Amino acid sequence: MSRPIIQLRGVERTYFDDGLVVRALGGVDLDIYDGEFVAIVGPSGGGKSTLLSIIGLLDNPSVGEYWLNGREVSSLTDVQRTSLRAQMFGFIFQSFHLLERRQVKDSVDLGVMYQGLPARSRAIRCREALNTVGLSERGSSVALTLSGGQRQRVAVARALATRNPIILADEPTGNLDSSTGRSVIAELRRMHSAGATLILVTHSDELARQADRIICISDGAIQGHAGTEAAIHREWDTETATPPRVRLRDQCADALRSLASRPAETMALITAVAVAVSVLVVTLGLATSTKAQVSSAFDAQANREVSATWQSQGVNFSPEEAVVRAQGVAGVESVAALSDRGEALVTVTGQARATTVHGVVGDVVSATRSEVVWAEGTHHRLESGEAMLGESLASQLGLSGLRTSPTISISGKFFGVVGLVRSSDRYPRLAGEVLLAESDARIAGPGGEVSLAITTRPASAQQVGSQIAVAVNPFAPDGLAVSVPVDPIGLRQEVEGGVQSVLQAFTAIAGAIGLVTLSAAIASSVRGRRSEFGLRRAVGAQTGQLARLVGLEAATVGILGGVAGLLIGMIAVLLFTIGNRWVPVFDPAMAPVAVLSGLALALMSSVAGARRAARVQPSLALRL
Ligand code: ADP
Ligand code: MG
Repeated sequence: MSRPIIQLRGVERTYFDDGLVVRALGGVDLDIYDGEFVAIVGPSGGGKSTLLSIIGLLDNPSVGEYWLNGREVSSLTDVQRTSLRAQMFGFIFQSFHLLERRQVKDSVDLGVMYQGLPARSRAIRCREALNTVGLSERGSSVALTLSGGQRQRVAVARALATRNPIILADEPTGNLDSSTGRSVIAELRRMHSAGATLILVTHSDELARQADRIICISDGAIQGHAGTEAAIHREWDTETATPPRVRLRDQCADALRSLASRPAETMALITAVAVAVSVLVVTLGLATSTKAQVSSAFDAQANREVSATWQSQGVNFSPEEAVVRAQGVAGVESVAALSDRGEALVTVTGQARATTVHGVVGDVVSATRSEVVWAEGTHHRLESGEAMLGESLASQLGLSGLRTSPTISISGKFFGVVGLVRSSDRYPRLAGEVLLAESDARIAGPGGEVSLAITTRPASAQQVGSQIAVAVNPFAPDGLAVSVPVDPIGLRQEVEGGVQSVLQAFTAIAGAIGLVTLSAAIASSVRGRRSEFGLRRAVGAQTGQLARLVGLEAATVGILGGVAGLLIGMIAVLLFTIGNRWVPVFDPAMAPVAVLSGLALALMSSVAGARRAARVQPSLALRL
């Protein structure tokens, strides 16, 4: 007689349940030979399932020895036991344990996947196995849509595909009516005829009688044997039980199908990531947009105005020369000189008013930020013989407009009025005064103070202010009084920093909330899939492979949620900025940052779920 493939010696299993000590098995000695068909019968609660779990390496004896194929296995590590399970056992349970919402062939594939077989040979094995159990047409059906008998035949096909030598079936017909039960038993007997060792737990005497041997268990002990051992002799190589490697591509495909089989839950997880990422995107988007907005506000006209003044008697250069020199300074956009010529009497058809007269050179309108109404046919520039009047002065003088080509006289000289100054943001008093070309202004009086009004390019005011005096009067720059706007850089940084820290706090809160909700959601999902993870463990998944499955699912959710959050956030920023008439500014780095943040958030959130998945006890999880 050959050596038994399974030898139990003094095996006990005690559960400590809530202070209660349950002795499920009390000293079992059992030999099962290779190729046998053994039926295990006995009353409910007698210890049959516990015995099968121990034989199938799903559970460890509390006391005793278990020799599998001549090797003591109760002291092996979890990794070793798992890979041994993957290459020695096929399991069939009363409640089927399929991947219910996935295609039938995914359930059949599970065992061979964890055996580390390549995709091509797995596909062939799955097809053959489904063929053998008569379900070749149903490989692509969702498992839930099959009848009970069909589902149990899928479970048989899963065991078949692995070509493992020992089949453990725990009341496989318990949920089936007698005729479908018979067809499942026929499949199991076919596997036995093909050489498998079959250990069948059943309540049915009719089924038990088909076995070579019947073992009766009650109260955790073997009460009797019937039949004889009918062994065949083969050698199984169980010494080289190195854990099979499952390719990353196969694990990714598994994760994707798993997510796709739970669309509502997957969408909820993606939404959680998307919400957190969109807050981040809004923060980043608003930060860059506010920065641009604050900058442009600080670079508004008022912050680009530099002026230089001097007394015309004390210098040896004319206002015309000053304008030309100022135009040569880098950063100057427009420049005009206004020389104060004191008060003069301005007369129009009998009306006279004493008012201040200025001589002007250069781009007076833009440099003084004046709004001017020009007479038709003029050059929008002040030339010799022409004058501009402030609008309020014009109305005091009885001039209603420029259509009549009005003329004014100052000190007996006549000037055609070509423009009315409505208002001047920089020199409001111009609305009540007279501007003449600098060359004409001498008739009004001797030169007094000259002001050089400069508008700089954005952010150039400080630089222009520091250079203008030397440029205009290199020999005596101190004679010029230069005024520049307050340096806005510090103030700008203060404003921007304030905005940013509020937004950053907001993002941190959203991230923390996302982390907590997502962790809870993933952990609860794993809890709901306890029996699935138990099944995966039973057919040979290592704890690390389950953790990786949870991680890969989370990574997918994170990337999809990151992309969705990016889009939602960008739309929100667009709506906000456009609503406020701002220019939306997006940093191109935002896209990868958003997607990577989603990924990181989901991966961090999956840690608790992954640990929980890795801790699933298959023998407990499958007791359903
Ligand atoms: P059978 O399959 O013959 O009905 P089981 O092996 O399932 O019997 O159970 C044997 C005994 O062990 C029962 O009393 C059962 O309540 C107990 N038992 C099984 N599993 C556990 C467990 N995880 N914790 C506590 N008691 C358990
Ligand atoms: Mg049972």
